[in-house]
Amino acid sequence: MRTTLDFLLQDWLNVASLTTRPRFADHSADTFTQVLDTCEKIARDKFAPFNRLVDTEEPRFDGEKVILPQATKDAWDAYAASGMLSAAQDHDIGGMQLPYTVELAANAFFSRASVSINASLLSVGNANLLMVHGTPLQQQVFAHNEFSGRWSGTMCLSEPQAGSSLSDVATRALPDGEGHELDPLGPRYRLKGNKMWISAGEHELTDNIIHLVLAKIPGPDGKPVAGTRGISLFIVPKKLVDAQGQLTGQRNDVALAGLNHKCGWRGTTNTLLNFGEGKFTPDGQAGAVGYLVGRPGEGLRCMFHMMNEARIGVGTAATMLGMAGYEASLDYAKARPQGRPITAAGKDAAAPQVPIIQHADVKRMLLAQKAYAEGALALELYCARLVDELHTGEPAAAKEAALLLEVLTPIAKSWPSEWCLEANSLAIQVLGGYGYTRDFPVEQYWRDNRLNMIHEGTHGIQGLDLLGRKVVMDSGAGLKLLATTITRTVNRAAGQPALAEHATALATALDKLVAATQAAWATGRPEEALANATPYLQAFGHVVLAWIWLEVALVAVQAATQAATQAAVSRGAAPHPAGFLQGKLQACRYFFAYELPKIDAWLVVVASRSAICRETQEDWF
Ligand SMILES: Cc1cc2nc3c(=O)[nH]c(=O)nc-3n(C[C@H](O)[C@H](O)[C@H](O)COP(=O)(O)OP(=O)(O)OC[C@H]3O[C@@H](n4cnc5c(N)ncnc54)[C@H](O)[C@@H]3O)c2cc1C
Repeated sequence: MRTTLDFLLQDWLNVASLTTRPRFADHSADTFTQVLDTCEKIARDKFAPFNRLVDTEEPRFDGEKVILPQATKDAWDAYAASGMLSAAQDHDIGGMQLPYTVELAANAFFSRASVSINASLLSVGNANLLMVHGTPLQQQVFAHNEFSGRWSGTMCLSEPQAGSSLSDVATRALPDGEGHELDPLGPRYRLKGNKMWISAGEHELTDNIIHLVLAKIPGPDGKPVAGTRGISLFIVPKKLVDAQGQLTGQRNDVALAGLNHKCGWRGTTNTLLNFGEGKFTPDGQAGAVGYLVGRPGEGLRCMFHMMNEARIGVGTAATMLGMAGYEASLDYAKARPQGRPITAAGKDAAAPQVPIIQHADVKRMLLAQKAYAEGALALELYCARLVDELHTGEPAAAKEAALLLEVLTPIAKSWPSEWCLEANSLAIQVLGGYGYTRDFPVEQYWRDNRLNMIHEGTHGIQGLDLLGRKVVMDSGAGLKLLATTITRTVNRAAGQPALAEHATALATALDKLVAATQAAWATGRPEEALANATPYLQAFGHVVLAWIWLEVALVAVQAATQAATQAAVSRGAAPHPAGFLQGKLQACRYFFAYELPKIDAWLVVVASRSAICRETQEDWF
């Protein structure tokens, strides 16, 4: 995976070129490599050896505290000490001013080693949000302490009755008495309500937990404003703090109602939290003390500001689980002797059995995993590079990056969640019965990965977002820009004999996707278009991945040509391991032959606005 990561970062995305930008001027290709080396080592030493342990020793509540294995605390401390919590922050607050592309690549090692052992991405997301929407004091007191690892953070959106439909959150926030608006930490409210599914909602890993909570402030009539416009955002610390960031010794009224016992991802606690039910009484009164972030009614807008990176983060976690399964099943397939070739020679029962990697069907399963996991990694890095462009590019380039991210983010989240999960299923299949046991890691990868189609917006919600909003907004500007970008790749590939056929196939697939988008909306009726939003999401994702693979193949062809020239001239060592570039080209071929044709089945129901699902009556089930 490291070789692939380096190839994508250097040969394809040329991340070193970012060092010409003022924000990254203190960095060099070497410092980027050092960050990757350090993270790879910490992940190998402090995370990977404990992946099974955190799965078997689930978090438990002893009535007072949530208990986690010591390894989880050690992993958190090592991660915090590496400086990765503030990797992207300014130097003057202790950050590294690292490009997001490198930060994401470095974090990928941790997801591969043990996706659930630390929930640092939540803390970083929480603190990043405050750096954009919080007051200077909120940033100093809350965000800076999260970047140092002293405290950790959560995102409290979901409630038992409000998951996908956040407009229905019922948590209430009432002004906390006289002068509530003058609190230096922000206008002070008392919150009451229940938050479900809160990851890392309770533990002893850090001195404090900073919850970011969505709640509704009642309007002048005393009733909450309906819909998402009524939602505001609050900082609710588990333990109260003063304006200097010191713990006051008072416990806030946030109580653990229970731990959820999950299918996978067990290294991270998952909680039902009660806010303001009177278990604790700060200043003698029930109600969780919360400080408003931004303006009332803008809570969801603030949260969505962080969505691109959160969703790219989820996609990357899914990707790395796919990668971990691919690598484990590849090792197994090379070592497991079973069966003989289908050729005449294979009929000799006295001949030794061959390793299963020699069977075409096992190669199919390995190629599929390679195409899914490495393709997804390339997609996530590409999206991360767009985030860097958005933040540090020239205005026109930044604007284009923002637009491309609008349409690509649902894919960055959903595609790896679906297809790297499928990769994990194939990894189990490669191991046969052994894959189905807990003696091998692949079943855990599948269980861990099963979460990713659910959280940060379910698969279905991503489809609705893509077809209902992203491809139609600004008269389809995002889709048009993506089509132009893909067409540029098609034109470059058309000039390469080895890739010309793929270029034609991608151009045809793109035309079908655009035509199906128009056909879906031909009647202008959302219920007709959106009834097939998930097949649309799948087809869109496969077209995007075909494009990404063609990009990677172009770089592989170029690198192979350079290597051949170099070898002829200097007989120097090849820059890539034997078979590496051929492997990239073969995975690309696999994707175009076995995967891209699937879009026809998905798009036919989209374009015809098939009413089969929509019109099925409840009592027909
Ligand atoms: C392990 C785990 C960790 C989590 N961590 C957090 C966290 O830290 N913070 C947090 O706030 N939340 C968290 N969540 C919650 C997660 O974001 C929600 O589970 C998710 O948003 C879905 O909500 P729900 O479970 O209520 O399902 P529902 O919203 O009830 O959805 C059930 C099904 O119905 C479909 N559906 C719902 N509405 C529609 C619609 N309008 N059109 C079509 N289909 C629809 C969905 O796609 C889904 O398939 C976590 C969840 C899990 C399982």
